Amino acid sequence: MPSHSRCSISTYEFKDVNDTLGHAMGDKLLKAVVERLKLVVREEDLVARFGGDEFAILTYNVTDPTEAGTLAARVGEAAAKSFLIDGHKISVTSSIGIALFSRDIAGPKAIMVQADLALYGAKDEGRNCYRFHSQDLDQQVHERVRVADELRLPILEGGLELYYQPQVELTTGRITGLEPLVRWNHETRGLLTPASFIPIAERTGAVLPLGKWIFNEACRQLHEWKAEGIAPQVLAVNISGVQLKNAAELEREVEESLAKWDINPGEIELELTETVLMEATQRHSDTLENFRQLGTKIAIDDFGTGYSPLKYLTIYPVNRLKLAQEFVFRVTVDYRNAAVVRAAIRLALDVIAEGVETEALRRFLIGAGCEHGQGYYFSRPVKASEVAKLLRKGQIKPAPESKKQTSPAV
Ligand code: C2E
Ligand code: MG
Ligand code: MG
Repeated sequence: MPSHSRCSISTYEFKDVNDTLGHAMGDKLLKAVVERLKLVVREEDLVARFGGDEFAILTYNVTDPTEAGTLAARVGEAAAKSFLIDGHKISVTSSIGIALFSRDIAGPKAIMVQADLALYGAKDEGRNCYRFHSQDLDQQVHERVRVADELRLPILEGGLELYYQPQVELTTGRITGLEPLVRWNHETRGLLTPASFIPIAERTGAVLPLGKWIFNEACRQLHEWKAEGIAPQVLAVNISGVQLKNAAELEREVEESLAKWDINPGEIELELTETVLMEATQRHSDTLENFRQLGTKIAIDDFGTGYSPLKYLTIYPVNRLKLAQEFVFRVTVDYRNAAVVRAAIRLALDVIAEGVETEALRRFLIGAGCEHGQGYYFSRPVKASEVAKLLRKGQIKPAPESKKQTSPAV
């Protein structure tokens, strides 16, 4: 169902401009503000002036409050940059009220009233801020947008780091691949794992520059390991569903990074979760086919969590199934899971099990015909410098299980 949100913007200093520099200058300022707003919104959105120094933005199909909050933050930022008009440097501030369309709001007039109320709230709060018509929403969205906003800095300033977890041949412990897993060295909150910021980055779109950085950094690192002669056969990079939806951009970025770091496409496996694949439309299936033709491999991550019919395995060009760790974890206690693992292994060309934490699991998986695994039993995700030591040995001899409980969970 389509949804609309509306922001009202008020430039406090507009009256001052009219009074001191004249109305002609005031008019130019208004036009300049509109031009800025048009740069920030999408093509299908509507920007209108509501009289005085008030504007409205009508956005089509914005269902997620975080998306509306992110837009409001961008509008605020755009307005905060000073304007240079006829040699005068003019600064303005903005207050933004947001109302999201919902079934509870009866018609366009009601939504305007809600946006106005939110605008009053924003004005009360002080300058340069945005408010939603509901307080609950307000709190949730501000927190998410703050994280997304903070995320821009580490991308630019090197606060992100890739850890690597080895994928091994279960019988020998020989390292066959590595999965880069992103970490964020947060200034005040310490080392953050992706669960705390990837979902937010996905909602706000920040996952696009993040994913671009991750892919390029993984290729750069692989290039370095190749030069040293210790590179694994494959690097399995996680790709977010949001990246897949921006297919053209994703394809371009992948090709650019591969060329830049002289990586053979066959050395890269793209991991897409089962849920993302199930939601994928025909367009994305073309994208996957393009990747297959390029020569990159495709793996289904977290297989066994999506209650999916196995039909989609025949639709998408998949090279590998990655059994979800929740699923693998239960195989030794639940015979039905064990049967599905056996069936999946018979079905797919190649199967890798995630979350291999014990010797019992390793043995069970080998017995079921699964050749590859990844998990704490072999190694946690570790820094590039640490994983390089493992690569130089080429093989991981699992340490006694008791020791693993004490190592830090990253
Ligand atoms: P995933 O791709 O399924 O990654 C496996 C997760 O399981 C990793 O968590 C890893 O640390 C953890 N794990 C590995 N072995 C074991 C084990 O034996 N036992 C247990 N209990 N856990 C194990 P992590 O690094 O926190 O990543 C969580 C999820 O965040 C990933 O799941 C992936 O969906 C996402 N993610 C991580 N890095 C990236 C990235 O670079 N890009 C994108 N788009 N998503 C990422
Ligand atoms: Mg993965
Ligand atoms: Mg997984």
